[in-house]
Amino acid sequence: RPIPVAGLLEGVVERFQLQAAKQELSLRVHLPQERGVCVYGDEDMVNRVLDNLVSNALKYTPPGGRIDVRAEVHAHQVTLVVADTGIGIPAEDLPHVFERFYRVEKGRSRRGGGTGLGLALAREMVERMGGEIRMESELQRGTTVYVTLRRAEEDAA
Ligand code: ATP
Ligand code: MG
Repeated sequence: RPIPVAGLLEGVVERFQLQAAKQELSLRVHLPQERGVCVYGDEDMVNRVLDNLVSNALKYTPPGGRIDVRAEVHAHQVTLVVADTGIGIPAEDLPHVFERFYRVEKGRSRRGGGTGLGLALAREMVERMGGEIRMESELQRGTTVYVTLRRAEEDAA
């Protein structure tokens, strides 16, 4: 069933707003120009994916940083984007971060926590919905994750 993209983006930003403020991070949502854009998928799963990505962004971005949540709307697909200005991921680790239990932890200062399952689960869920997930990162500059899902006809409402 079609899920409105605006609600997805606003929802995740709302769920993490307090935590972001506590960490002195700016967490912002940018809604698509076009109104009523929807994707196909399981709403619970999309929310779990987004929660995973934003919680990573919060975990790996030092105070003063920025996290932006937005969508790129195409004719037949929509890409949900979570971008942070955090510590980034070394190029040699980037191909492995979606593997179960893989963590980049060579003397990284951000507080411990984590099993290395978040991104593996996110990828599993995205693929189950017929979508695609990929990540770009630059060390000390930030990380951007792209989740591409099939675009749906807008909800008749
Ligand atoms: P979990 O999500 O299970 O609590 P985790 O966050 O360590 O633990 P993943 O979400 O799978 O595990 O991420 C894997 C690794 O990729 C992380 O340990 C971290 O090194 C790196 N990583 C993920 N997201 C980011 C990000 N936004 N910025 C920098 N590094 C990241
Ligand atoms: Mg994680």
